[in-house]
Amino acid sequence: MTESIKIAVVGAGPGGYAAAFLAADLGMTVTLIDPEINPGGVCLYRGCIPSKSLLHVSKLLEESEQAKNWGIEFAAPKIDLARLRSWKEGVVKKLTGGLGILAKQRKVTYIQGRAAFENSTTLRVTKSDGTQETLSVDRIVIATGSRPAIIPALKLDTPRIMDSTGALNLEDIPGTLLVVGGGYIGLELGSVYATLGTRVTVVEMLSGLLPGADRDLVLPLHKRLEKLFDGILLNTTVAAVKDEGSGIRATLKAQDGTSQEKVFDRVLVSVGRKPNSENSGLEKTQVKVGPRGFIQVNKQLQTDDPAISAIGDVVGEPMLAHKATHEGRTAIEAIAGQKVAFEPSAIPAVVFTDPEIAWCGLTETEAQKENREIKTAKFPWAASGRAITIDRPEGMTKLIFDPHTERVLGVGIVGAGAGELIAEGVLAIEMAAVAHDVAATIHPHPTLSETVMNAAEVFFGTSTDIYRPKRG
Ligand SMILES: Cc1cc2nc3c(=O)[nH]c(=O)nc-3n(C[C@H](O)[C@H](O)[C@H](O)COP(=O)(O)OP(=O)(O)OC[C@H]3O[C@@H](n4cnc5c(N)ncnc54)[C@H](O)[C@@H]3O)c2cc1C
Repeated sequence: MTESIKIAVVGAGPGGYAAAFLAADLGMTVTLIDPEINPGGVCLYRGCIPSKSLLHVSKLLEESEQAKNWGIEFAAPKIDLARLRSWKEGVVKKLTGGLGILAKQRKVTYIQGRAAFENSTTLRVTKSDGTQETLSVDRIVIATGSRPAIIPALKLDTPRIMDSTGALNLEDIPGTLLVVGGGYIGLELGSVYATLGTRVTVVEMLSGLLPGADRDLVLPLHKRLEKLFDGILLNTTVAAVKDEGSGIRATLKAQDGTSQEKVFDRVLVSVGRKPNSENSGLEKTQVKVGPRGFIQVNKQLQTDDPAISAIGDVVGEPMLAHKATHEGRTAIEAIAGQKVAFEPSAIPAVVFTDPEIAWCGLTETEAQKENREIKTAKFPWAASGRAITIDRPEGMTKLIFDPHTERVLGVGIVGAGAGELIAEGVLAIEMAAVAHDVAATIHPHPTLSETVMNAAEVFFGTSTDIYRPKRG
């Protein structure tokens, strides 16, 4: 039955290309449309992949500095910016080129261009060469993603003010950089520039970095960033910016009413992302868009228009690549007639700073907000053999349990490699593991993964790696 379905996917990010490729594997006739020469979207061209390539370099620079503690001293690094840039671009090219080949192998028709709706099943595609093509299909999947949000007060026509895309271009290593927004993108890119030698100041409107993450996870990162950055200004907003030719004068206004002016070589505005749900003829369909601009979908990722599904950043938070991919798969399986629903128990979030922060499932903050009864168990990495061997004892692994069923509801980790470790937490939650399952699972030694098992032991008060005197 799926063989007779003609489908178009608009946008070739991790949501769109996964949807298109799976649709082709299920026998559908697939057209994938995106302005870039190859599939990849924001994630591969100007998001996850280039940022993580640069963060890898940052890690190396930080570690070579830390090596002094171990009796090894390297000469000050010489940074060949053109080469670094071309290495990062090479990574992007390799991966996006690979996706182009995978599209061809699957006989997915890839059109480089922009699509707009004519009606629920017809798209007008304006190709990169300016020509237009009208495409009529049975089903359409919208996977148009998101773009950086802009604050009108910070909109100046100067290359000194950048969004994440501009920052990833790595035009130069500015002497000073103001990062507006203490979310994960600002902290990751701020870390890249700081390790390359820029003096970075971060300004965050709220009372803490990474709003949304539990405070005990953020604390070790905050401490380290206080050393790496020139300044972290909380409860502070950027009231105005002025281009002075040789720099950007920024007025920084604190919540207590005080303000200060500082001049920066560059400004990175990283205050969130907006869904790409406008200007594409959606009004000619029955698709409904919510107040924040997200396209409304059900658990099968179907919009209010029976011929149209939508996935990824354009349908809502969390705006993460792996969420987009899984939604893409679910949307196609639903179109193929399979009984599926997108209802994960946990979607991991990772901040690839140093140390990394990762969490999944229920957070302590959410539990408190919802007045939900929970029990937490924390294992400090100062008691982890592996953490000590890599000289990174500041980490912590936390499990959040239902106190009655002892089921794992959430996991939070801060520390080196937390982004890799969190997958174990996601698996535990999805498999409905209880504390005993995690504690009784033999983990390899010496690894950081042991800390997940150790935290479950802490829950029972049976961890032999730490000592807690008995009460009473
Ligand atoms: C600096 C940065 C770092 C990030 N790091 C991470 C990370 O480490 N991990 C993580 O999970 N997420 C990360 N993200 C977020 C991640 O990139 C997004 O969540 C993910 O790319 C969303 O995928 P998507 O398929 O919904 O859309 P996107 O990747 O946004 O792709 C949408 C595509 O659709 C195209 N498009 C838009 N309109 C049209 C149209 N009318 N016609 C045709 N094509 C159109 C766009 O040009 C784009 O190519 C990061 C983002 C940024 C900016």
